[in-house]
Amino acid sequence: MAKELTHFIGGKHVRGTSGRFLDVTNPNTGEITARTPLASAGELHAAVEVAAKAFPGWAATNPQRRARVMFEFKRLVEANMDELAAMLSAEHGKVLADSRGDVQRGIEVIEFACGIPHLQKGEFTEGAGPGIDMYSMRQPLGVVAGITPFNFPAMIPMWMFGVAIACGNTFILKPSEKDPSVPMRLGELMMEAGAPEGVLNVVNGDKEAVDAILTDPVIQAVSFVGSSDIAHYVYANAAANGKRVQAMGGAKNHAIIMPDADMDHVVNDLIGAGYGSAGERCMALSVAVPVGEGTAERLIEKLVPRVRALKVGISTAADSDYGPLVSKAHLEKVKGYIDLAVKEGADLLVDGRDFKLQGYENGFFLGGSLLDHVTPEMKNYRDEIFGPVLSIVRAKTFEDAIELPTKHQYGNGVAIFTRDGDTARSFASRVQVGMVGVNVPIPVPLAYHTFGGWKRSAFGDTNQHGTEGVKFWTKVKTVTSRWPTGVKEGSSFVIPTMS
Ligand code: NAD
Repeated sequence: MAKELTHFIGGKHVRGTSGRFLDVTNPNTGEITARTPLASAGELHAAVEVAAKAFPGWAATNPQRRARVMFEFKRLVEANMDELAAMLSAEHGKVLADSRGDVQRGIEVIEFACGIPHLQKGEFTEGAGPGIDMYSMRQPLGVVAGITPFNFPAMIPMWMFGVAIACGNTFILKPSEKDPSVPMRLGELMMEAGAPEGVLNVVNGDKEAVDAILTDPVIQAVSFVGSSDIAHYVYANAAANGKRVQAMGGAKNHAIIMPDADMDHVVNDLIGAGYGSAGERCMALSVAVPVGEGTAERLIEKLVPRVRALKVGISTAADSDYGPLVSKAHLEKVKGYIDLAVKEGADLLVDGRDFKLQGYENGFFLGGSLLDHVTPEMKNYRDEIFGPVLSIVRAKTFEDAIELPTKHQYGNGVAIFTRDGDTARSFASRVQVGMVGVNVPIPVPLAYHTFGGWKRSAFGDTNQHGTEGVKFWTKVKTVTSRWPTGVKEGSSFVIPTMS
């Protein structure tokens, strides 16, 4: 009998009352392991009331005490790493080592958030005018919300609530309904770390809960990560309701391979970044762009045997390179894109569609697939596939190559492989993409830098974590003050200036 999951509101497990549930599946076996309650709008609004009650006390807690809670939370997440990684692998399907990486990247944002006493400091100008001082403060917004995707159930919630809570906000997390157990456990650990009840609330749900977040009058800001159409929907509706919003979307990340690149290095990086986590990463490399026919031939010669040799296995096996896709529906979607690519005229150099794992025939496994002669007009190139499929788009020149990611609808990440500094520098400066790797395949910025793509990969102006994150989760108040000492001035009808 599948376990019934709950919400985590006000520091307590709360059973869902909407009567609606979604099955959680182990993608290795296809077995249903749990049922996620899908919150009604009423349940979501009730959780917001709990978070609103907790806000004044938490906002008034001095930043050093808030930082201490974050330090303790980091310690607890580290202490529970094995449990979290196992939970994550069982619901998502990424291999254990990669699940640990997912948790670890989240911890790194918490480490950043431990510096909140320094990060949230305002500015001060003594003597901005005669007897006048001017200072600014960064205050928390109030109740804020995060809506997260299935593919990083530990890291992405921590990107959001790690910084938001450290800044003094109280938080509603609406995680992906596909793998909700890790976010729930993070909610429990935050309480154990000393956060007061109601500071971090986890409300499970689908579109109904998301729509309730977008219309709730108390919620001040919404951070979203997921696919681009939903990101745009969240961006437009949250903004229309007067909320601050950042909404990260899908991706199509290109790797430009110059003729002078070290091909062994390139192939190692393409294999890891293209097929790791079954390609279900928003920073996965999904398009390889060799520049020149000779480069393409050398690439294919080395790449094809490596794709054929990929070890696809269950997520708990130490020797699996990658595990199953997250769901049967997603597996079918990815296979559908391979069918489409063939119809559109691409060459399928390695076909993973018929892959079956012995003993796990009901699992959602897909063999590594490699497409060649993909062109920019094809739908399989324009769309995000989000699976273990790498497409080769051949470019004649560097100029042709830089145009591909620059003109693509998505602009999340991109990489260039070259030994030439001039080429790399020109590429990094000109390409219309938010995160650039130079001989680095997955250029995910570290927690004290900031994460965000361009074009349809991110709507809104402020990125995740780093000082941009602190800006997103706080508002600035500027105070101009003076203490007149007996001198009486008349009224002035002219705007004060420094002239
Ligand atoms: P998704 O868009 O299906 O779901 C994301 C969230 O939106 C979930 O919480 C889900 O419950 C909610 N949602 C789904 N349908 C909705 C609807 N119709 N109305 C309102 N809310 C809805 O995304 P996913 O499949 O969970 O995640 C994969 C996607 O996320 C990929 O496109 C990937 O590129 C993207 N992603 C982007 C980043 C980034 O930072 N740019 C990071 C990770 C993942």
